[in-house]
Amino acid sequence: MGARLVEHPGRTPGGGAVTLFDAVLLDRDGTLVEDVPYNGDPEKVRLLPGVRVGLDRLRAAGLRLGVVSNQSGLARGFFSVGQMRAVHARIEALVGPFDSWQVCPHDEADGCLCRKPLPGLVRAAAVELGTVPGRCVVVGDIGRDVTAALAAGAVGVLVPTPVTRSEEVAAAPWVAGDFCEAVEEILRRQHAVQPAVRPAVGRRGGTVLVVRADSAGDVLVTGPAIRAVAHGADRVVLLCGPRGRAAAGLLPGVDEVVEHPLPWIDPDPDRVNPAEMAALTRRLAAVGADEAVIFTSFHQSPLPLALLLRMAGVRRVAGISEDYPGSLLDVRHRVPPGVPEPERALSLAAAAGYGLAPADQPTLRLRAEALATRPGEAAATGPDGYVVVHPGASVPARAAAPQRYADIVAALTAAGHRVLVTGGPAERELTERVAAAGGVDLGGRFDLAGLARVLARASCLVVGNTGPAHLAAAVGTPVVSLFAPTVPFGQWGPYRVPTVRLGDATAPCRDTRAATCPVPGHPCLAGVDPADVVAAVRVLASPG
Ligand SMILES: [Zn+2]
Repeated sequence: MGARLVEHPGRTPGGGAVTLFDAVLLDRDGTLVEDVPYNGDPEKVRLLPGVRVGLDRLRAAGLRLGVVSNQSGLARGFFSVGQMRAVHARIEALVGPFDSWQVCPHDEADGCLCRKPLPGLVRAAAVELGTVPGRCVVVGDIGRDVTAALAAGAVGVLVPTPVTRSEEVAAAPWVAGDFCEAVEEILRRQHAVQPAVRPAVGRRGGTVLVVRADSAGDVLVTGPAIRAVAHGADRVVLLCGPRGRAAAGLLPGVDEVVEHPLPWIDPDPDRVNPAEMAALTRRLAAVGADEAVIFTSFHQSPLPLALLLRMAGVRRVAGISEDYPGSLLDVRHRVPPGVPEPERALSLAAAAGYGLAPADQPTLRLRAEALATRPGEAAATGPDGYVVVHPGASVPARAAAPQRYADIVAALTAAGHRVLVTGGPAERELTERVAAAGGVDLGGRFDLAGLARVLARASCLVVGNTGPAHLAAAVGTPVVSLFAPTVPFGQWGPYRVPTVRLGDATAPCRDTRAATCPVPGHPCLAGVDPADVVAAVRVLASPG
């Protein structure tokens, strides 16, 4: 598996290294220039602070630049195309050229596919710039800029102004204080996944133990980082917990899986058993790893396992730790809050000296053989293009009420969709109840790999913040995310796949990490309108 580790070129984006972003797409009014309603006069163009310097920095870093702008003043006859072009020429005279201008000339009543919050402008800009939306960042000042970005599968950054509504700020995956800060963070994230030059110690390219000891979703979002390690190692052994075992078997780049519960990671841990810890240490020693990379979530510590790995004789250990690690870590990596989990993990791999193969992409992915259709599956699902509704969640606080999901199934069916309802073996009662509203009940019919195949053939998945959302991202299926804000959406939202976020991002459960909803009535998801789900499916399932 994988070539031997070659000397990396260092942290220089470009030169064959994989980059997160190819292009930055900017909203015009309120982001680049002062918002002068329906402006057709170049004399009234005023740049916002930091824009000129920020755009220069982005260009210097090799990023292409585009503008994505609603200009309904054209449809309303407030200014002509010629006047608009004069405004754009003035903007370019002030800040330099853009590589793409994408303008929606329509009015709300026109029912077009390009007016933000619809994703048409973002998709068109990506095409013109020779890339895909997943490799674009959209910077805007209001919620519909971010919504358009997410619906296209791009990254959205909100730079609020005094007119930005607080709900829009709460719902955004990434908020920057001003334009300069947005640029700084785009460049920081781009830089953070470039592999560091490895010190000349130890054997290179041997066996590397990677660790992600949590549930299926956690293992799936670590996939890109594990592929980066696999690109530089001869052999990759993944240590996972029982709840992540099925997902571990789906990841490309993993040669062997070791399963063991870790009492400092498990949500429902047994008491620490010294004999069992000794057995785990022996098992880890038997792996014969030259080094280990311990992937954790932002509220977990790599240090207890790092101690066992030292006792097992592993010479080089990398982990993310705010806590002082003493001699437990050779690579002590730190990540600011808010970074998407897949990138957080990729940045640890990079700090340990591992980067993705040049042909690889920083997206979630599964083994190709896991996705080959099995006989009989198509008979259970019917033809491709259905909508999957997955009402369960590994954590109760992240699931909407069964009746809410039943209403969603009824609304989708009434809108002409064929709906499949999925769930694990323990969720059969739930899926039966939800599917009774008009869907096909597939509860308990598929293991995780089977569910991946079902999702791969779906037009869209409707789900909470739980493993199957990441499974859909890994097979490229768009997600309507009923996202309880108990953890940050920017870190845990579906990664680089077209997404519509629903639910109240300002609910009091926000950032509590609660497993059971602490607020009576579960308000964050109780207010999700089935009509909004139908509208979201219409946007996401529309041809790109
Ligand atoms: Zn339009």
